[in-house]
Amino acid sequence: MKITAVRARRVTGTFEYDGEFREERQARPIDLYEQNFAVSMGGPPAMPKISDGKYRMEGIFLEIDTDEGVTGRAGTIGAETVHMVAQFERLLVGSDPFATELLWDAMYRSVPNARKGPGMLAISAIDNALWDLKGRALNQPVWRLLGGAARMEVPMYASTLGYSLEPELVRQRVKDHIALGYRGQKWFFRYGPQHGRDGMAKNLELVETVRDTAGPDVEIMFDAWKSWDVRYTVDMAERMVDYDVKWIEEPVQPDRISSYAAIRRASPIAIAGGEGEFTRWGAQELIAQEAVDYLQPDVFIAGGISELTKIAAIASVSEGVKLMPHARANVSMHIVAAQSPDVCPSVEDLVKSSVTNEFFLLAPPVRRLGKICLSEQPGLGMDLDPAKIESDEDVPLR
Ligand SMILES: [Mg+2]
Repeated sequence: MKITAVRARRVTGTFEYDGEFREERQARPIDLYEQNFAVSMGGPPAMPKISDGKYRMEGIFLEIDTDEGVTGRAGTIGAETVHMVAQFERLLVGSDPFATELLWDAMYRSVPNARKGPGMLAISAIDNALWDLKGRALNQPVWRLLGGAARMEVPMYASTLGYSLEPELVRQRVKDHIALGYRGQKWFFRYGPQHGRDGMAKNLELVETVRDTAGPDVEIMFDAWKSWDVRYTVDMAERMVDYDVKWIEEPVQPDRISSYAAIRRASPIAIAGGEGEFTRWGAQELIAQEAVDYLQPDVFIAGGISELTKIAAIASVSEGVKLMPHARANVSMHIVAAQSPDVCPSVEDLVKSSVTNEFFLLAPPVRRLGKICLSEQPGLGMDLDPAKIESDEDVPLR
């Protein structure tokens, strides 16, 4: 089998949702500046509102064709990633799509600047599409190709990015997600060091509201989205300790690994991070510097399924470190399910992102009683639903 083409495809459709889909945003590093360069609210540019209750949904998918008529698909991906894919097109066309180790290493060696950043996003998407392709060619789900299922249903925790932080609404949503069976919930702070005592009190009110509503048996986590500093995080951690918080996520900007390590040494609460980190070398650095308890590479950022599988091996021999892949539940479930639960305990369901990422799928993964269920769909289960597609066009790689 040989690769004949690498293509990108943009589909659009209409997403119906009562009310504002994204009600609140998380703290952002740019909030340091009072003039606030960041957009305050609303959906991402890819999902503009058409009218009340209707949004325009867009999804870009990477597709890899072969001379045997099998096509692998991965997505959704960003438009900027499409152009980065172009630099690997010549290397891929004519190659054996089953040789994912060779192709990953060849891509990595052929464009040295793709070791991090948008180039690695392209390698990630290509690698994921190749795994889908291999699964389709063999008529097997990817989780089986990765070693088979350690469990057919994997526990999920819910991440509530985009939900309002109004206390009454928080209470309602905490209950809603418990009713859906999620045994853990992650909420996102809105305030950082620049918001002073008042912001800190509001952050703590969120922690108190979530724990108070969830009761003692639900795991709760909080995400600072790279927007705090060492002193603020340690101060917050000491104030949060009575609420039995499982982890504080991304307290500082990802490059400040020594700050992570300082926080981890001082914090009475475990630290999570690494969703923006690249490759096994990035993961290894976080582990070597004892920066995190929970390592969270993203399968569309860190290098794809091939790379996350290697990171799982590193995590498995790293004392106290668990691998908790970031977002992308429909893809990361294949990796997590194939690993020991001791290495990969659960899948993150970034609830609102899952809705948009999986919108165009014909058969998105079933979620049942707080678990995400493996299926026998070949590859990554990436068949698209024609009934949802209103427009469909090629996106030129160049
Ligand atoms: Mg996060």
